[in-house]
Amino acid sequence: MNILFLDQSGKLGGAELSLLDVAATFRHHCLVGLFADGNFRSALEDRQIPVQILTQQAVKVSKETGLISGLTSLGTLLPLVVKTANLAKQYDLIYANTQKAFVVGAIATFLSRRPLVYHLRDILSPEHFSQTNLRVVVTLANHCAALVIANSQATRDAFVQAGGRADLVQVIYNGFDADRYAQLAQLGRDRAEPWKQEIGLENHFVVGHFSRLSPWKGQHILIEAIAHCPKEIAAVLVGDALFGETEYVQQLHHQVEQLGLHDRVKFLGFQSEIPQLMASCDLVAHTSTAPEPFGRVIIEAMLCGTPIVAAAAGGAMELVNPETTGWLTSPGDEIALAHVIQTAYKSPTVMESLAKAALETAKQQFSLEEVIEKIDQSLKSLLST
Ligand code: UDP
Repeated sequence: MNILFLDQSGKLGGAELSLLDVAATFRHHCLVGLFADGNFRSALEDRQIPVQILTQQAVKVSKETGLISGLTSLGTLLPLVVKTANLAKQYDLIYANTQKAFVVGAIATFLSRRPLVYHLRDILSPEHFSQTNLRVVVTLANHCAALVIANSQATRDAFVQAGGRADLVQVIYNGFDADRYAQLAQLGRDRAEPWKQEIGLENHFVVGHFSRLSPWKGQHILIEAIAHCPKEIAAVLVGDALFGETEYVQQLHHQVEQLGLHDRVKFLGFQSEIPQLMASCDLVAHTSTAPEPFGRVIIEAMLCGTPIVAAAAGGAMELVNPETTGWLTSPGDEIALAHVIQTAYKSPTVMESLAKAALETAKQQFSLEEVIEKIDQSLKSLLST
């Protein structure tokens, strides 16, 4: 089975990190076509996965795109579509990993007569997308996709609610290599104290936030919560603005200054050693203010043995069993978050038992091997029909 994977991004976000693991399995029989260059290409090359940048022009269709700008951008998409369709003829199927990649793949599937799989990693709701965008994606999925893989039940339900065909969808969670996380996490635990010292947070209870800096990821909620906690409690924000959200980054820095928290809130930028850093933190916070499609960071924290507090919406609610494998708080509720952080700070034994249960659950339910097996089976049965 030869697969043409498509992804619009050159940068390493959650969708790209998940695709890295899937494509690695098919590395001898696949090509990953990207619509932009960046550290995602290097990560694919590092794992000997064939990759090609399919366009030098930025594909400008934003999540909030309107009809006019959507149509205008079609002109710039055409050469990309033709190139993709020609390439697809050398493969058995097209596997679109992101939304713009899916739109390109949908047209290419007609021209190349190769089946199209859409790995849906977005909640298709008005909170995340314009009405035009939703209509286009759902219509194309209903008519052009042979299979939609949803990364959570919440993602699947939003697709169906938006008018998507339920019979097309299969829910497959993201998978993780638990042994790799365990090994790297041990390194992080061993160097936790020197690391805290290095970033000026020695003797602090450190809450880690691991996500691109974007308003709906809710870093501002964590900062506000820290302001309500005693001074022994601090936060690190790991991640960068991947899609040009520079105004939000400035706003976060301003918020930290205004609240007098510069000694207790550190911005670490984009990092690649996530398991080590998570294991060096005392607690991991997920604070998305809109429903999260999946939330890789939640399972990663569990696999690193660090307790997690997550915002209760979307896929996150399928990952955390409240008070058993972690804590859940209402999205946007900084007071509730501050309360959980202080509970965690004061209760090391509760933290330990939550982390232990979370590790077992994550190992059992989010095994990379099983996920790859499911995807492989689904693709094979698609090609055999
Ligand atoms: N991540 C990373 N470096 C950073 C911040 C985050 O590699 O500096 C990773 C994080 O470990 C996770 C992914 O980015 O694997 C984010 O995935 P998630 O599903 O949480 O959110 P998404 O970016 O897909 O919305």
